[in-house]
Amino acid sequence: VLRIAHVRKAYGDNVVLKDISLDVRQGEVIVIVGPSGCGKSTFLRCINGLEDIQGGTIELDGTPIDGSSKDIAAVRQRIGMVFQSYDLFPHKTVIENITLSPLVVQKRDKAEVEREAEALLARVGLIDKRNAYPRELSGGQKQRVAIARALAMKPEVMLLDEITAALDPEMVREVLDVILDLAREGKTMLIVTHEMSFARAVADRVLFFDGGEVVEQGVPERFFTHPETERAKRFLRTFT
Ligand code: ATP
Ligand code: MG
Repeated sequence: VLRIAHVRKAYGDNVVLKDISLDVRQGEVIVIVGPSGCGKSTFLRCINGLEDIQGGTIELDGTPIDGSSKDIAAVRQRIGMVFQSYDLFPHKTVIENITLSPLVVQKRDKAEVEREAEALLARVGLIDKRNAYPRELSGGQKQRVAIARALAMKPEVMLLDEITAALDPEMVREVLDVILDLAREGKTMLIVTHEMSFARAVADRVLFFDGGEVVEQGVPERFFTHPETERAKRFLRTFT
């Protein structure tokens, strides 16, 4: 589905991604872990076409993605992204937040879009918040709306960047459960997280980034119990 080959990304002299290659299969869940500043967010933003790249290629089903490609808007619709700060539109209700892009960007039928949005709300456990405003929701609820909003565009790939990092601990679970559910359903996802037990539960494959490189990768059982490199061992020790 997603083919990333030899991607290089620099901000001026600061080379943030050195030579990253990754093939993501349909339905695969990739979890990316690594120390702060190693390039995880930058990598997701490159995949979403939010950053231009200085080398390499990124393709979604054969269509090139990068900041300069001309149908980038069309490609970006096929990739959903959720960030740490659920930036919902404050003056729109929950249902309006979810239906806005399908209506305006995809120009789809209103009744159908609303029906689907309600199904998504039910799925994230928030149907009773249909007409609430973001300020009336808890952090975990807002983040679940943000996930529903991304799903409403029917993306082929979901990119999640530390979506629980800003949440109080008691709200983390409800958000992660939604993601586990999506994983079971076969949604293709790339997930950046600092929640190691979640990473272990959800990942088909774990990538350990350090210094802009994939230092190690493998199935979660192996990575978390027998990391091969000294750098990965040191990183994992900080979580125990
Ligand atoms: P964290 O775990 O703290 O979120 P990260 O792995 O997501 O870290 P990135 O945000 O990708 O790290 O940043 C990687 C490097 O790129 C850092 O050195 C950062 O200073 C640099 N960087 C990120 N965005 C920009 C930007 N817009 N302009 C210049 N440098 C940037
Ligand atoms: Mg980041």
